[in-house]
Amino acid sequence: MTSAAIIDGKAFAAGLTERIGEAVSQFCADGHNAPGLAVVLVGQDPASEVYVKNKIRTTKAAGMRSIEHRLDIGTSEDDLLTLIDEMNADDSIDGILVQLPLPKQINADAVINAIDPDKDVDGFHVVNVGRLSIGQDAHIPCTPYGCLMLLQDHYGDLSGKSAVVVGRSNIVGKPMAQLLLSANCTVTVAHSRSQDLPAICREADIVIAAVGRAEMIDGDWIKPGAVVIDVGINRIPAPERGEGKTRITGDVDFNSAATKAAAITPVPGGVGPMTIACLLRNTMVAAARRKGVAVPPSIG
Ligand code: NAP
Repeated sequence: MTSAAIIDGKAFAAGLTERIGEAVSQFCADGHNAPGLAVVLVGQDPASEVYVKNKIRTTKAAGMRSIEHRLDIGTSEDDLLTLIDEMNADDSIDGILVQLPLPKQINADAVINAIDPDKDVDGFHVVNVGRLSIGQDAHIPCTPYGCLMLLQDHYGDLSGKSAVVVGRSNIVGKPMAQLLLSANCTVTVAHSRSQDLPAICREADIVIAAVGRAEMIDGDWIKPGAVVIDVGINRIPAPERGEGKTRITGDVDFNSAATKAAAITPVPGGVGPMTIACLLRNTMVAAARRKGVAVPPSIG
């Protein structure tokens, strides 16, 4: 039995994308070129192809310019760094995104840190990581920023809430913890070496699951009335749909957690759509900052 409110990330992301589209129109009406987002895909990883296609489609739908670079799987690190230098110098490009993972011959850290931090709309450059950690204006990684927006929409002020982030990756767990700390939560970061994870989660008003283990977090781990944000995207067998069929599920056992939580994100339809909306938001912000224009408050 579900008693939790369902946090509809798909609807929230659609509203945010619409407001970004309005901000883009105003930006252009003020005499600027539409914000330009360059996406680089090296190789043909099927999951990356899907992400990149979605990013390009939504970028164009929001009225922005999409610049695509599809490179051969054998591309050298030097060639990719040269392309990044060119894009850094190109005034018509406001945001640069290099789709991860990269092939083995390319050092992802070297590539990310070669991007102009002001164009680093993924928020992965060490300068943006540092700015976020000391509370300066930074490009904030899209997935955790999307989670924060959903939480603020639910709670308003997060001050004083206890939050547990399960997972400590550089792209989700760590920036999520920084954002919650900046929002005055008391934050615990748990990981694969944490002892008694169920007990740690049971203390929390907010549980963020970013692990990559299908349905690992059970309803028993959730404090009654907590808010659960499930970042996980896991593909599991779904024999009930037919032989060889699969389905997507999160890191939280939705059915049991929904009987305890006050509110919960579904998978799919929760955090996923927020990630792309926040990428568009970061691109609009990058363009505005580069032109010395105020960022419209309607896009956060
Ligand atoms: P990741 O880099 O693999 O990190 C996973 C984290 O979970 C690590 O910190 C790991 O701990 C921890 N962990 C693994 N097993 C654990 C266990 N049994 N108990 C406690 N902690 C455990 O993954 P990620 O990139 O952060 O992604 C996490 C999930 O979010 C994945 O399912 C991914 O597909 C999804 N994701 C979704 C979006 C979206 O748009 N919705 C975006 C990004 C990622 P250690 O550090 O100790 O190894």
